[in-house]
Amino acid sequence: MNCPICGGRTRVLGVHHEGLRTNRRRECVECLTRFTTREGIDITSLDPHLRKMFWKRVMV
Ligand SMILES: [Zn+2]
Repeated sequence: MNCPICGGRTRVLGVHHEGLRTNRRRECVECLTRFTTREGIDITSLDPHLRKMFWKRVMV
């Protein structure tokens, strides 16, 4: 993952989990810009059957 400002390398400062999403705090080692990236599954893209299984797991 490169810095959106200068394109330099970034390092991960911390990871925060939010359900199925993972938020990563990052800092650019070149210009010291800090930003957050998010990755995860968009459950609206699952078919209804899988979505039901997903909610079952999350609600427990
Ligand atoms: Zn940068």
